[in-house]
Amino acid sequence: MPSLRSSRVVLDHELRPASVRWEEGVVVAIGDGSADHDFGDLVVFPGLVDSHVHVNEPGRADWEGFATATRAAHAGGATTIVDMPLNSVPPTTTVEALEAKRRAAQGHLVDLAFWGGIVPGSLGNVPALIESGVCGFKVFLVDSGVPEYPPVDVATLAGLALDLPILVHAEADDLVGESGPSYTEYLASRPPDAEAKAIRDVAGLDSPVHILHVSSAEGVDAIAASPGVTGETCPHYLTFTEEDVTGVEFKCAPPIRGGEHREALWEGLLAGTLDMVVSDHSPAPPELKRGDFATAWGGISSLQIRLPVMWTAAAPRRVDFALLSRWLSYAPAVLAGLNDRKGSVAVGKDADFVVFDPDGETLVRGNDLHHRHPLTPYEGMRLRGRLVDTMLGSPARMLIRND
Ligand SMILES: [Zn+2]
Repeated sequence: MPSLRSSRVVLDHELRPASVRWEEGVVVAIGDGSADHDFGDLVVFPGLVDSHVHVNEPGRADWEGFATATRAAHAGGATTIVDMPLNSVPPTTTVEALEAKRRAAQGHLVDLAFWGGIVPGSLGNVPALIESGVCGFKVFLVDSGVPEYPPVDVATLAGLALDLPILVHAEADDLVGESGPSYTEYLASRPPDAEAKAIRDVAGLDSPVHILHVSSAEGVDAIAASPGVTGETCPHYLTFTEEDVTGVEFKCAPPIRGGEHREALWEGLLAGTLDMVVSDHSPAPPELKRGDFATAWGGISSLQIRLPVMWTAAAPRRVDFALLSRWLSYAPAVLAGLNDRKGSVAVGKDADFVVFDPDGETLVRGNDLHHRHPLTPYEGMRLRGRLVDTMLGSPARMLIRND
């Protein structure tokens, strides 16, 4: 029976010495004996869960794809990823599109699950998509950037009463404007109030609401004032401020804002107003990721480096490994309804682990990353910590929400 031990295993939201045994991919015992993999003082986390990844295949596999994305995920310790319903073609708004995704994903290296989508006119597909095993539904309240995935209005969602979460790209359409070529103009075109207003607009829905990629102090405040609404943010909003933005590789929507917003996001995480930090990995080919801030594609690739980026930012703020693990594994697993198997190291859960040297270093070179395009705003950064090993107890599978 395979086993591992370390003096620092994240168990039940605390860090302690442990040995862990598993059988057929499932943890069967946690104790303090010896083990066949002894990792000394390295930190053993549950496998990371990234609930916000745009794989883009089929249809835009030149942007990213299952082979490259799951290789990047594995190299970065993400043993489970949940794929977003756009920018693949067709988008995952029908069961046929979900099946096309599953066919395209053959050969994936980590466990996979799928979000469905809702666009105008697709509400009738929701029950069949639930039956087919999606984890929830993503909607846009503003232009998504791709023509086949138009926004919905809040009134359309008001008729739904789902058990699964509705994931909202929360920027109010009437407060988002056209951008000029400069970053100042891009920022002005997507103000914090657009995020806050959209959050308030969806807060009263009869389905569970989760706010994607929260970027502003106003957004954090709006979630705090909306009981039952959950929220995520992303490594780039916690790392960079507008002063760091030197080129379109930093362009994303909503945008990276001033330092006061970055601090408010940290406070929101530490207070529990925001539950998790996920990548929003969203690559595009170089020919779309150039030009000025009005025209370049918005999206940042960080699937492979979420752990060292977050450790670099979190360590000086005295965040411990257990809390970091909650943000990177446990909370995303709960959101996607995968927490009966994923997100923590416990008897009965999947034997997925990440072994991490918190005192090591990761030098980011886009050309060394496994996702399809090397462009990254983290280029050249020396991050704190180094991935030592990623372990999946079973060959990679496709997951169904808490089946
Ligand atoms: Zn996204």
